[in-house]
Amino acid sequence: MDNYEELNRIISESKHIVFFGGAGVSTESGIPDFRSKDGLYNQHDVQFDMYTPEYLLSINCLEDEPKVFFEFYRQKMNVDGIDPNKAHLKLAEMEKKGKLDGIITQNIDGLHQKAGSKNVQEVHGSTLRNYCKRCKKKYPEDAIFASKDPVPRCSICGGMIRPDVTLYGESLPTDAWRNSVKLVAEADCLIIGGTSLVVNPAASLAMGFRGKHLIIINKQSTPADRMAELVFHESISKVLDQIKL
Ligand SMILES: [Zn+2]
Repeated sequence: MDNYEELNRIISESKHIVFFGGAGVSTESGIPDFRSKDGLYNQHDVQFDMYTPEYLLSINCLEDEPKVFFEFYRQKMNVDGIDPNKAHLKLAEMEKKGKLDGIITQNIDGLHQKAGSKNVQEVHGSTLRNYCKRCKKKYPEDAIFASKDPVPRCSICGGMIRPDVTLYGESLPTDAWRNSVKLVAEADCLIIGGTSLVVNPAASLAMGFRGKHLIIINKQSTPADRMAELVFHESISKVLDQIKL
């Protein structure tokens, strides 16, 4: 039995499948991975050279140098016009056919929802949601990208409009995290894709899995490979595309 047949055997016998995905799921749609060689960390826009990407996406930068924060954010984080890939589409199809309990994602691009997935736990938030830092009024997805103001302002109270994204220095959204822990704890099959699993909270979330089948799909090896029943060091959309429903 080859690995793809094995994958399909596991999928067909499992009752509670959960997918946990990282940056690798989005890079195949053309979104840069912050930590990869070709990702944001290696791009050198002159005006940002004096800052680290961690600082540019931190709560400190938002509060202390909001013009710098929003300039960087507008240049790098706009996913308008980017489409879901075969990995997103297959996962949406699996959920629709009752073969997937939910998705936990570290990505902030909303591509799973765009593909049609419903139960998506966004543990780092989403660039598609914005709100006023002061009065918490919600703003539509283009509120920051379309704003003519260097620092987008609330029409009600004049407070700063910020993305509903977990910035460096902030804690994870409580509900999404709680739901994710529950999904993993109740899963009999956990598919982890496109994450190196070396950075928390990804690592600790995976440790909570007590089910039967652990499948890992990542181009590079991960510390959890030795615990997995099945490991693919391949493109995530290529592997998921082999699932027959
Ligand atoms: Zn406001």
